[in-house]
This record gives sequence, C-alpha cells and structure tokens, in this order.
Amino acid sequence: MAIATINPATGERLCQYPALTDREIDDKLDVAHRAAQSWREMPLEERAGVVRRAGELLEQRAIEYGRLMTLEMGKPIRAAIDEAKKCATACRFYADHAAAFLADEVIDAKNERSYVAFEPLGVVLAVMPWNFPFWQVIRFAAPALAAGNVGLLKHASNVPQCALALEQVFEEAGAPGGAFQTLLIGPERVARILADDRVAAATLTGSEAAGSSVASIAGKHIKRTVLELGGSDPFIVMASADFDTAVKAAVAARTINNGQSCIAAKRFIVAEPIADRFIDAFVDRMRGLVVGDPMDERTNIGPLATDQIRRELHDQVERAVASGAKVRLGGRARDGAGFFYEPTVLTDAPSNSPALREETFGPVAAIVRARDVDHAIEIANDSRFGLGASAWTRDAGEIERFARGLAAGTVVINGMVTSDPRFPFGGVKKSGYGRELSKFGIREFVNIKTVRVMGPAAR
Ligand code: NAP
Repeated sequence: MAIATINPATGERLCQYPALTDREIDDKLDVAHRAAQSWREMPLEERAGVVRRAGELLEQRAIEYGRLMTLEMGKPIRAAIDEAKKCATACRFYADHAAAFLADEVIDAKNERSYVAFEPLGVVLAVMPWNFPFWQVIRFAAPALAAGNVGLLKHASNVPQCALALEQVFEEAGAPGGAFQTLLIGPERVARILADDRVAAATLTGSEAAGSSVASIAGKHIKRTVLELGGSDPFIVMASADFDTAVKAAVAARTINNGQSCIAAKRFIVAEPIADRFIDAFVDRMRGLVVGDPMDERTNIGPLATDQIRRELHDQVERAVASGAKVRLGGRARDGAGFFYEPTVLTDAPSNSPALREETFGPVAAIVRARDVDHAIEIANDSRFGLGASAWTRDAGEIERFARGLAAGTVVINGMVTSDPRFPFGGVKKSGYGRELSKFGIREFVNIKTVRVMGPAAR
C-alpha cells in the first residue's frame, strides 16, 4: 500500500509520500538511540512537562487535528475533535501521575535497604493503526516518553499526515531531537528495525496477522512486546435491563468510529423474552442514522477507511448470509463516490457464521438470542477474541455472574466499553496481551529493577 492520503469520502488521492530508504531509517535509528541516553537522564518532572505541553498543543489544535483525522480516515468530525481532546486528557493524566506510578517501591526485608525501581528500556517501536490515528499513538507515547523511553512511530500507511503532525507535536512540546520520530515506511521494513540492537521493545495495535508477525520477530530477538489486537465484543441485554437506554447504547457501541473500533460491540446477545422487541428497536435506530460526509457535523456514520476494508466487510456479510443469517437492514455498499457501507443488521446467524466468529470492522451488527444468563455467557465466551464485553441487567446476581464469568480484558455493566486513561486496557486470547493506560500501561516498557543494599551500608 502506498503511503498516501486518500480521502475515503470521495476516493480522491490527495498526496503521497516516498517511503524512507534503508539509509534514512538507519540515520533515524541512530538519532533515536542517542536521544535515549539523554532523555532517560532528564529528571522525570521535566519529561512529564514535555508530555503536558504536548497535551496543551493537542487541546489547542483539536479542530485542526480533528479535520486531519476525518480527511485521512473518514471518522465523523465531532468524534475526531473529541479524539484530539481525549489525547490531551491522557497527556495530562500521565504528566500528573507518572512520578507516582514510577516511584521506587520499598521492600520490607530484614537487615537490608531494598527497593524496586522502574527504569526505561530505551527505543520502543510503535506500529499503529489508522482507526484512532491520534489516540492509539498518544496512549503509547505519553506513558512511554514520561517513563524515559523514546518512541519510533510506524503509523498506518493511509494516515501519513496524522503521523507527521504527531511528530511535530512532541517536537514543539520540547522533546529533544529524536525522542519521538515518525518513520514513513511500509510494513515490510518493520522486521529489519525490530532486529536492530538499537531498538529495545515494540508495541503493535492492529490485526492478528500483523501482531503475530511482529511478536514472532521480536521474540526471535528477545524483545518485549505489547499487542493490542482485534475484538468481537459481546453486548448482552437481559430482560431486567433498562430497555431504551440499552438499545440506544447498543447502536452507539456498534457504530462508533463508523463501526471500525476494536471495542465496538459486534455481537448482540439478547434474552429471549425481549429479543423481538430489541431487534425491532435496534433496526429502527440503525435506519435513522445519517450516513454521509464525515466533515458535516450532522453525520453519524462516514465512509469506511479504505475500499479494501469495504470489500472485506461485504464479503463477510455475503458469507454470513450464505451461512443462514437473515438481513434485517442494509447489507450492501452505497453507490457513488467514497467507501460508504449501509448500516446493517443480521439475525439468525448460526454459531459458526462469519458474523459471529470473525471481527466485522464496519457498521454490521449480528443479533442472537440467549435462553438465560448461563447461555448468554456461553455465547459471549465462544469467541477467539476477548477484548471488551458489555452486559445490561439490573439483577444483582446476574451482574456478579457477568463480571466474573465474561472472558475479556474489560467488562462493563450497564455501560459501553470505552478506553479511559485511568483504567488498564487490553485483551485476552487473540485480542492480544499486555496493557495500555493506567499505571499498568506505563510499567510495560520499564526494567523492573530489584535493588538490595546489604551489610553496614544498609543502615
Ligand atoms: P493492520 O493491517 O494490522 O495494520 C496495523 C499496523 O500494522 C499498520 O501500521 C500496518 O502498516 C502495520 N502492519 C500490517 N502488517 C504488518 C506486518 N506484517 N508487519 C509489521 N507491520 C504490519 O490493522 P488494520 O486493519 O489497519 O487495523 C484494524 C485492526 O486493528 C483491527 O483488527 C482492530 O480491532 C485492531 N485494533 C485494535 C485495538 C486495540 O486496542 N486492541 C485498537 C485499534 C485497532 P500498513 O498500514 O503500512 O500496512
């Protein structure tokens, strides 16, 4: 794929960038390696100050950066502006809390002075996706930089202007040259970078295939990785739920970011007694969504990010129908320019249907019926993925069953799954491993160093 901005709302190619040569990559690795030495020695408060200033710039330029995101990947403009502001919040969060999260932990051991220190690893390569072009990067960069690591960003090839804007944010925030660099490269260059001794670790947010490839190469070179991969989150609605609120949230959870979110709800599991009513109400709301120009503030759903993603999504819908699913709404691409897909609702999909087994990355919902709480948990956990899960019920016993029984990195009761700097974020099974955000995220890329001072010096 060319490194290019192609407006998904029109299909028009707006600009293209040449990929870095091996020589240029080598130079940037050198700069990063040198920066890693000085950056780690800078007092944590100063590093946190740079992260705080980055947040201020993101806040001030939220409209400008929001427009850039919408232009390159098609999310509705209001959501894009909110994304820039959320990045600012995360920067503030780590600027405020990094010192506490990384403070030495004293260990109570007799006749010695012992503690655990958290030290940076060095250069961390971040391979990132286009769907939240600023947020995915910031939630890696803010904690990693505050901890004293330096970042090398290999962003998705369809959001090069976002990638360059992020580099500029850190530069203007006062990060010394090389503390955060963007590499405009295709995926074929990643293996070489991972093998390089100047790179200490890697994080990847993206597909299973990319995660598996990056983790296996990093593993060969004994380098730590964090993987944030796909999801097919369940959204369970029980008979005691606040019905109207649940339906509203269900549609929002499926269509957030044009349906292209790892934690978008994808499988709707509804208790039998309310299933027909839920399907009707869900279809009605989906039908009422405004699909169109993502730069228009009234739009709910913009285009999918690329034509290939739209083709893959339609192929999944066709295979789901072939497996026995019924189309209650949509089920086709929109005619005309841009990569639009109609909001789609599928019912009656058998358990082996692609609509339930695969991740559907677009506004396509599959609704299935559950006999009771055990059956709902069984269906929810019958997935290769385990990123988030949302369950709606007012029954105290069911709340506890879902909280403990759902196999996911995050379980939310009576709310949508979202990411929040205060809480750890990540998955189990094929959704990946490691955590981002909170104190757990900042401790992924550190050397957890044991220090034990013994003898007279300990007193
Ligand atoms: P993708 O194709 O895996 O791309 C993600 C990044 O990986 C891009 O920078 C891509 O570069 C790069 N890449 C692709 N193949 C690679 C390889 N073999 N070696 C090294 N790098 C490689 O994913 P996507 O389809 O763009 O993004 C959507 C996926 O990301 C979905 O599965 C979604 O669920 C997941 N996601 C997960 C989270 C989470 O937090 N768990 C958050 C957001 C998205 P190019 O663009 O140059 O190909």
